[in-house]
Amino acid sequence: MTMPDNSTTRSFIDVPDGSDFPIQNLPYGVFSVEGRLNAHVGVAIGEMVLDLTVMEELGLLQPDARYFGGGSLNDFMAAGREAWAFVRKRLQNLLSAETEVLRDDSGLLQNVLFRQSDVTMHLPAQIGDYTDFYSSKEHATNVGTMFRGAENALMPNWLHLPVGYHGRASSIVVSGTDVRRPSGQLKPEDGPPVHGASRLLDFELEMGFFVGPGNEMGTTIPITDTPDHIFGMVLVNDWSARDIQKWEYVPLGPFLGKSFATTISPWIVTMDALEPFRGSGPVQDPQPLAYLNGMPEAAYNIELEVGIRPEGDSNDSIVTRSNFKYMYWSVCQQLAHHTVNGCNVRPGDMMASGTISGPTPDSYGSMLELSWRGSKPVKLANGQERKFIQDGDTVVVRGWCENDDLRIGFGEASGLVLPAL
Ligand code: MN
Repeated sequence: MTMPDNSTTRSFIDVPDGSDFPIQNLPYGVFSVEGRLNAHVGVAIGEMVLDLTVMEELGLLQPDARYFGGGSLNDFMAAGREAWAFVRKRLQNLLSAETEVLRDDSGLLQNVLFRQSDVTMHLPAQIGDYTDFYSSKEHATNVGTMFRGAENALMPNWLHLPVGYHGRASSIVVSGTDVRRPSGQLKPEDGPPVHGASRLLDFELEMGFFVGPGNEMGTTIPITDTPDHIFGMVLVNDWSARDIQKWEYVPLGPFLGKSFATTISPWIVTMDALEPFRGSGPVQDPQPLAYLNGMPEAAYNIELEVGIRPEGDSNDSIVTRSNFKYMYWSVCQQLAHHTVNGCNVRPGDMMASGTISGPTPDSYGSMLELSWRGSKPVKLANGQERKFIQDGDTVVVRGWCENDDLRIGFGEASGLVLPAL
């Protein structure tokens, strides 16, 4: 009898050392193959993807259940935690080295197993709504210090609630999609506003979670129920045009400086896969209100890095290393807060963390902070410097979890910046 979550379980499919996708991970995504019209749901294993849409049609997953026929993960997200656990266990069993069903059926394997390098990845879900939080104390303090001075860095509400804003779902794109430098209103220091291409294009190192089952409008999701409503996580680059943002954000907050593009990684790593890496987050002082308490161990130890690859270079230079565990407000607190007013959330909604900055200057999650508003250029491996992102740069976000016996990863969220029109 194999223990599904045991770190020694192996798949019959070859998983190279250091792979993001061992049998303990099994993240979900949506892919298509050349010559086939419809997108299918798949799960990543090593360098391969297993086609769950076909597996389900063949009756090899959960009998009588249909989650993977719609070309997105929304139906599966809506199905809830028991269904997620059932399918995960079934897949770990089917992919295990001990199980013959797939392993010994080369005809079947030919129909359901593809090389990741041969498929095209799509957005994993139809994202109805996208919310972006602002939950890293270090990031909020850094930005507040730059714009208001160290004395007033954190606004009076910040330690009491997870600050957020409603983002734009229509411009969320999957890793590998080019991003056009935005144009908009820019306000020179000494003159009236002008229309032009943003000169201060930035990345924001973030992660996002996908909502599973939603709630009825007028009801809340109590914090102790939030794990039933969180399906899994992706890497997020919340592209930001600092000059557009600076002029437009008063008094209602982020708008066109954010809504032109948000890049996410294609594979959703489930909360079940992340469970070995869950632990305590930062101490919260003052103690939050009761509706935000009750899930104390809701931080995740996820290593994060961002690389910039200039045009023509084959390698990226790592410009920051951070960790999701630095988040002051947890995903559970974010979801409880989001619904405390009776706002209904729906399967496939995405909630991003906000920029994840760590405590040291080499762990800041944006160029705004790394270059301290452009005053300290960041050196790249090829000798160039960056204060912000240039045309032709590819920005790559990576994330992974590692302990003594297990490594799982998220793949990457990358995007090439094209010149403004
Ligand atoms: Mn953001």
